[in-house]
Amino acid sequence: MDPIFSPPLHRQRHQFVIDFVKRNKPKKVVDLGCSDCSLLQKLKFHREIELLVGVDIDGANIKKKMHGLAPMSTDYLQPSYDQLRIELYQGSVTQEDARLRGFDLVTSIELIEHLTLADVERFSEVVFGYMTPVAVIVSTPNSEFNPLFPRPAGFRHSDHKFEWTRAEFKTWALKVCLEYGYEVEFTGVGQAPPGQEERVGFCSQIGVFHWLGGRQDCNMFFGDDAEDVFSYTLLYSINYPSLHDNNILQRVLVSEVLYWAEKLKRNWIEEKTGERDDTYTLYPAEGEGEECLRASERHMEMEDRQTACGAEMKNPGEHQESELFWTNGEGQQESCKLHRCVSVPLAVLWSCCPKLSVLSGSLRNLRHVLMDNPEVKLSQDGSAVLLNDQEQDLEEEEKDHDDLEDSGYAVCSHSADPEEDWERNV
Ligand code: SAM
Repeated sequence: MDPIFSPPLHRQRHQFVIDFVKRNKPKKVVDLGCSDCSLLQKLKFHREIELLVGVDIDGANIKKKMHGLAPMSTDYLQPSYDQLRIELYQGSVTQEDARLRGFDLVTSIELIEHLTLADVERFSEVVFGYMTPVAVIVSTPNSEFNPLFPRPAGFRHSDHKFEWTRAEFKTWALKVCLEYGYEVEFTGVGQAPPGQEERVGFCSQIGVFHWLGGRQDCNMFFGDDAEDVFSYTLLYSINYPSLHDNNILQRVLVSEVLYWAEKLKRNWIEEKTGERDDTYTLYPAEGEGEECLRASERHMEMEDRQTACGAEMKNPGEHQESELFWTNGEGQQESCKLHRCVSVPLAVLWSCCPKLSVLSGSLRNLRHVLMDNPEVKLSQDGSAVLLNDQEQDLEEEEKDHDDLEDSGYAVCSHSADPEEDWERNV
């Protein structure tokens, strides 16, 4: 007979933990004896976990794969509100470290059989007595299954100090429960062939321990303690990008705003290409922001989002007012430096992109965030995003500045010099 498992046994053990995590949604999880971080690799996708920690005595082994735990580019491109911090420590489970107290789940997968029996005692004190997690999953080989392996008798691995029968495992587990206030359920993975399940049990036996004090009582203990010990060495730590981080929230908001503003501008320009009168301003005169918003909203009601982008078009005579905006200090228009721009009201962006309202909460907040951001140019009253008219930029590359000056194609204009404080010139 060939007791080779499908899926492989190590995957079944990890799947057992993952199923537990899915059901119980622990926020703080530590994997003791994390080895090459393969379980952590899987757990990091369960974003209910906020703190994921790995500990192993073999720091070199951790280091080999630890960078695989770094966020992926999608985590940066589309951050969620979930928060995740990963920490990896080199240290022994026989030693206390205050950073590991108060966890929701501790996993110890095929670890204890690598300890001497004296160290298993110490492990029990540290994990159940000191760390006091809400739940603990301990897996270890079941020696009763060993005769089913097609190989000589002996331990499954040369580093194993013992392999327990189900009764031996049960004795240890029940003693722990009694001493430290836990209850335990016994189960396992790696099913024996039909008809032999009862006789030999699972290939890997598992004890799932639950603290009898309950979650709240459990975390109560851990205040600031002058005698806190930090015996582990931190090898790696990373915070995943989260929208709870203000910088990240700002970055996402700005890129959403710029994306949608650009998109609306394109649509509007395309729609107007044939009929655009270049003497119209696309930018509202000072003080007209509210009107502009209302105009946009009206357009939104008409479900004409693209037209709404240009809703603030003015008659040729009116745009003189806004052009003052772009004069130099002597009231002379510096037409050789002038660019057209398109104004996209924030209210229109707000209506077009539901994500903006989810992320910023209110139009006022959105405006506040954009005001401080150098990547976004807002109209003076803060009601609209101003975008350069790239079509004109392209034209400019083909023409010299004198031609441009003569073109009379001054829509809404502002200085081409990015360093210039254009607001000061209003
Ligand atoms: N848990 C891993 C998994 O599920 O893939 C595999 C564990 S491996 C069989 C046992 C691990 O325990 C090794 O990485 C070893 O370095 C670690 N280990 C042994 N003694 C330890 C101790 N006192 N403290 C922490 N880790 C220990």
